[in-house]
Amino acid sequence: MEIKKVGVVGCGLMGAGITQVCAQSGYQVVVSEINDELLNKGRALINSVLTRGVDKGRLSQQDKDATLSRIKGTTDTKDFSDCDLMVEAAIESMDLKKKIFAELDKICPKHTILASNTSCLSIIDMAMVTSRPDKVLGLHFFNPVPVMGLVEIVRTITTSDETLATSKTFSQSLGKAIVIAQDTPGFIVNRLFIPYELNAIRMLEAGIASREDIDTGMKLGMNHPMGPLTLLDFVGLDTVFFIANAMYEEFRDPQYAPPPLLRKMVTAGWLGRKSGKGFYEYK
Ligand code: NAD
Repeated sequence: MEIKKVGVVGCGLMGAGITQVCAQSGYQVVVSEINDELLNKGRALINSVLTRGVDKGRLSQQDKDATLSRIKGTTDTKDFSDCDLMVEAAIESMDLKKKIFAELDKICPKHTILASNTSCLSIIDMAMVTSRPDKVLGLHFFNPVPVMGLVEIVRTITTSDETLATSKTFSQSLGKAIVIAQDTPGFIVNRLFIPYELNAIRMLEAGIASREDIDTGMKLGMNHPMGPLTLLDFVGLDTVFFIANAMYEEFRDPQYAPPPLLRKMVTAGWLGRKSGKGFYEYK
């Protein structure tokens, strides 16, 4: 099946990035938000990223205008009625995602593929509220979407070969490399990343080294672009806490259990860069 029109639910951090990348790759995109204010905020984010691209000479003004002309913003889900592929990028709540999938199943044509950008929730749970579990899968983009080169494709036990093949071709057409994972919490990347991050917090908690030395150790010793605690501040401590809890819930394996320091910091509102304070302070 050929994808011509893409729908994106949610124009937050990820939805805006997915919308931009799809439109830049030539797809017509419809993106929804819960109200006009958030829709305008999302559109402004896309506009500012594209403007920066023009200023830095990575993109022509003409390409920017053409990209924006392919994006239609809406607060009415009925506008998804002629989309070939949907990417759900609303907040990480299973109840909300199930509601969205049930609604999309009613609105979208029978051939439409329904994908979720969830970081850790079970895709089969979303698939089973629809009448087309064979056409449901995960398309997990990474933040920031225009920069990061990977899409994790998450196949459930009901996803058909055809849905998988179409989604592979689509993701590659966005200039992304793909990896394919089974529908288990954390997929490939977070399954490895989360225990690594939690161990860095445990190391700090146990007084084995300072935050700076833990970060410098991994940055220079392993040639990582940033150390694990700096990275945690970047990703958001609440996000990592949420994913770790979901993984622990599923596997009951202590390596995924959030350490007490993480829980305390989240409770205190020290969420990293977005709150101005995490393991480090931000102006
Ligand atoms: P975000 O809070 O920035 O954006 C979510 C947006 O969805 C919000 O603007 C919200 O108003 C909107 N929304 C909520 N309900 C909606 C509905 N019914 N219809 C339309 N819009 C609705 O969150 P985000 O960081 O963009 O994350 C979105 C999804 O992507 C989550 O499932 C998250 O786990 C996943 N994800 C996030 C990252 C990341 O680094 N932030 C990376 C990969 C995947």
